[in-house]
Amino acid sequence: MRFELDAVYVEEEMRATALARRVIAALPPGVPVYHVPDGRIAARADRGAADPFAAGKRRMVIMRRRSRFLTGCPAASNEFACCGYLVMELASNCPMDCGYCFLQEFVADNPGFQVYANYADAFAELDRVQAAADRPLRIGTGELADSLAFDSLTGMSRDLVRYFAGRAGLTLELKTKTDEIENLLDLDSRGRTLVSWTLSPERVFRSSEHRTASPSARIAAARRVLEAGYRVGFHLDPIIACDGADRDYSALLDELFATVPAARIEFISLGGLRMTPGLRAAARRRFPRDPMLLGEEVLAPDGRYRAFAPLRMRLYEAINRRIAREKPGVRVYLCMESAATYRRVLGAAPPAPAALGARLADGNRRDG
Ligand code: SF4
Repeated sequence: MRFELDAVYVEEEMRATALARRVIAALPPGVPVYHVPDGRIAARADRGAADPFAAGKRRMVIMRRRSRFLTGCPAASNEFACCGYLVMELASNCPMDCGYCFLQEFVADNPGFQVYANYADAFAELDRVQAAADRPLRIGTGELADSLAFDSLTGMSRDLVRYFAGRAGLTLELKTKTDEIENLLDLDSRGRTLVSWTLSPERVFRSSEHRTASPSARIAAARRVLEAGYRVGFHLDPIIACDGADRDYSALLDELFATVPAARIEFISLGGLRMTPGLRAAARRRFPRDPMLLGEEVLAPDGRYRAFAPLRMRLYEAINRRIAREKPGVRVYLCMESAATYRRVLGAAPPAPAALGARLADGNRRDG
């Protein structure tokens, strides 16, 4: 197992589920398993811990999800150009620990690493969405959790890939900072699963992305899933506008394109570091010596700290130029930026969310 757990809590009601059995069977010796009546209580922050958020990451809670699995993307807003993404919440929190991660604020009260053992109930929701959809849809599991972290324990990805393989018009996006891809390699996704990696330059990885796979390992994993028949995409997000960032991103893209041909990449998204005041305070408290968290961002109109706009634009433009030099036409989009920024960086108005969402979902697929 790549990540360490202090304990696993299993909700009584879920103890006979396939997921609970798989996890318990795969646990290394010495990890205690407790059965509890209500996983929500086990997921609450342990206020007595020195770092309740970090302690939550080491406590897996296998429980029933009580609400819908499918939601709109939490980043969607009228203020921003939007990619029409749907989110499927199969887990909450993540065993890795990135200094800038919004979960530090978002799940601060419930940081236990929740995994929903009734995840197959999401398939009925997806069937209804598919029946009502008038365009191809892209549905991701990597918003409140990493899609593949702990997949060696949960095996969830296999059920998801098989389900989506049979659903025309739906694309699953598994978004990760791991190289935990072994469960994927022998499956035929029929072009309906896209695996995406969030990539940062080596300096950001070393400084801020604790327990993640290195950027080189992520890129190598992308190459392997591509060869196994999956579609691949990349997120350069958050882009941190530190000194030398343009050089760092150029080197990162050199490495990416040397391993994954640009023509085979479905999209590259770009998003600048953005932090609410609450997240910024939590991140600086937890990682006081991380230089990536000590930049002089300004409070933007959306209430988040961001790099000074001209600096951000210059960096986006430089990255976009580098991508276009490799291969014009690689699909690039901006995440959580205004239409004006989108227009300036990418030279055109952002497509409507539904149109961009359909294009990103459908990509270069030929299988119909
Ligand atoms: S990998 Fe993603 S979800 Fe996990 S800590 Fe890092 S930013 Fe957060």
